[in-house]
Amino acid sequence: MSQKGSPLYRPIQYLKGVGPSRSEKFARLDVRTGGDLLYHVPHRYEDATTLTPISSLHPGDEATVVGRVVSKGVIPTQKGLRIFRAVIRDDSGVIECAWPGQPWLQRSIDRGDLLLVSGPVKFFHGRQIQPREFTTLEEEGDEDGAAAGGGEVFPVYPATEGLSHRQIRSIVRKNLDELLDAVEEKELFGEAWRSEVGVPHLRDALETLHRPDEPGQVESARRRLAYEELFFLQLMFARARERVRTEGEGRPLDAEPDLTDRLRESLPFELTGAQERAWAEIRGDMESPERMYRLLQGDVGSGKTVVAALAMARAVENGTQAALMAPTEILAEQHARTLAELLEPLGLEAILVTGSLTDAERRDRLAALADGTARVVVGTHALIQEGVEYDDLGLAVVDEQHRFGVEQRRTLREAGRESDTLVMSATPIPRSLALSLYGDLDLSVIDEMPPGRKEVVTGVRGPESREAAFDFLRQKLGEGRQGFVVYPLVEESESLDARSATEMRDRLAARFPEFEVGLLHGRMSAEEKEAVMRRFLDREIQLLAATTVIEVGIDVPNATVMFIEDAERFGLAQLHQLRGRVGRGGEQAYCVAFTEEDPPPERLAAFAATTDGFELARADLRLRGQGDFFGREQHGVPELKFAELERDDDLLRHARERARRIVREDPGLSSPEHRELGRELVERYGDREELYEVG
Ligand code: ADP
Ligand code: MG
Repeated sequence: MSQKGSPLYRPIQYLKGVGPSRSEKFARLDVRTGGDLLYHVPHRYEDATTLTPISSLHPGDEATVVGRVVSKGVIPTQKGLRIFRAVIRDDSGVIECAWPGQPWLQRSIDRGDLLLVSGPVKFFHGRQIQPREFTTLEEEGDEDGAAAGGGEVFPVYPATEGLSHRQIRSIVRKNLDELLDAVEEKELFGEAWRSEVGVPHLRDALETLHRPDEPGQVESARRRLAYEELFFLQLMFARARERVRTEGEGRPLDAEPDLTDRLRESLPFELTGAQERAWAEIRGDMESPERMYRLLQGDVGSGKTVVAALAMARAVENGTQAALMAPTEILAEQHARTLAELLEPLGLEAILVTGSLTDAERRDRLAALADGTARVVVGTHALIQEGVEYDDLGLAVVDEQHRFGVEQRRTLREAGRESDTLVMSATPIPRSLALSLYGDLDLSVIDEMPPGRKEVVTGVRGPESREAAFDFLRQKLGEGRQGFVVYPLVEESESLDARSATEMRDRLAARFPEFEVGLLHGRMSAEEKEAVMRRFLDREIQLLAATTVIEVGIDVPNATVMFIEDAERFGLAQLHQLRGRVGRGGEQAYCVAFTEEDPPPERLAAFAATTDGFELARADLRLRGQGDFFGREQHGVPELKFAELERDDDLLRHARERARRIVREDPGLSSPEHRELGRELVERYGDREELYEVG
């Protein structure tokens, strides 16, 4: 296939109707070649197939009309308001359009322009439309009648200053057929493949997006491009996965269950169905000769730790070591305590390795890891630093909480060339998003809470309710419960943050002189935090003023009240994590999100409406859009331009299955039928692939 002559690779400057000056503007839209232009698809369509002829408009109608401007002018009224008016004409007649208070339109609307206008029809010295919206479909002097020919659905393109959507439309019109001819042979999915997925040929899809006969056709064309995007993302993940499999041998950890049986027997409860499922999947992976690389996802309190403990016991009963890495010292310490409790009946100890060990402690513990006397270790990043060696690491558990990246996961995995990896995430995200974020991992989901949990009663309150809320807090503290008041970080600055948190604490202390009010913020040292937490756990402190440091996991069953100040400044995921700090014992718990915004933002209403993390995550996806969900840099989520995760779950599943099958058959994508897929993969994800590269 020759690329040189293809208009798809031609610099945009040399396409018909472009030239050097416009090509600079196109660059701002990331359109640099003919191919880019073809993929620069409209972001919306003006549907003129349901137009009303101007002659049949009646006062009182809501209407959409298209007409050419025959006269225009600005008219002052007695009150000093200036009205821009334009008379437009279609085949059936004329009508006046009036824009009160917008005299500047005089400069952008000219005689001869073709306008699409929608709004209410009124009677005012004759019929008149006061447009709610209008689009200039074609300007007097547009090179070819941009709106002429090709149906009555007008594509509206993302535009930029100096390059209007009409100019883009006109340029697309001039070049479309040639580009489509060139794309004909770029179709990477054969006919059988396409019909299995249920999507059209690439050429037809692109033609439809640029030149639809009716708006209803656009969706299936979008799905075609969405599938392509999802497929290559999944192909990249499938390759990353394959590398994990081949970088180390893996081995079956299939000894007789001794510790795991005893651990299960010692639990004071039955596992939930979801925990059983997840555990069966994990055990299956561990017993297989291939390396496990799995994500365990579940809401705060859904019981992931217990499942992870089972996996760790499984590793140990096979004669190997198990490590758990947490993103912060506090969380590592908490995990160490929880595991110590769970493993104690088995006669197993969990050692802790963090940055705040003394040199002597560090030396001893690392020695115990290296010679194998330590079987279970919990720690922070300190676990993957230089000089940490394992006798025989069988399982690495990474409690991710969205703080580690691909690279840390890799480093821990590399610590044991044959080890299995289990990543835990407490942020419930929809399956489809999980597959796009963590597509290289297999997925286990705990989507069921242990029985008997009471839902946290949640309210959103304005300033007028503060007194009553704080009275309620006093009552709960008086009953022996504990509570949190959480403040958002001040301007992302830890020192300012510390100061304001301190002020807040002082204010709370003045309000609640009969209780001990503690303080927790990001500027405190690990020991200081630890000391405060311990006092809170021991109930020496009843009320904790805190910034978001508590987000990452203190577990205080007696705490039942969570107040969140300026709640609109937190994301839904964070709010949900904060709420998860209470209601961890048997008592009814309460969460109040304070905001001065009136009405409160939709996000807060969604927060109060459900305690189901997965539902919240879907709401968040809806409200904020997928690109925002966790911040892209942190996760390297590629921008999905066409795919809509909420809607395209079927495409995603298909893409994932297909990609995995292909990579399993042909990891190097070197067979003739896969070579083009490999080339396209490098074009799309060349640099991202390196991130996953090992050795
Ligand atoms: P996560 O790690 O998902 O936040 P944990 O494993 O810490 O959840 O479990 C939260 C609490 O629920 C712990 O106190 C744990 O002992 C308890 N728990 C876990 N699984 C069950 C279960 N199946 N039934 C009852 N309680 C459970
Ligand atoms: Mg836990």
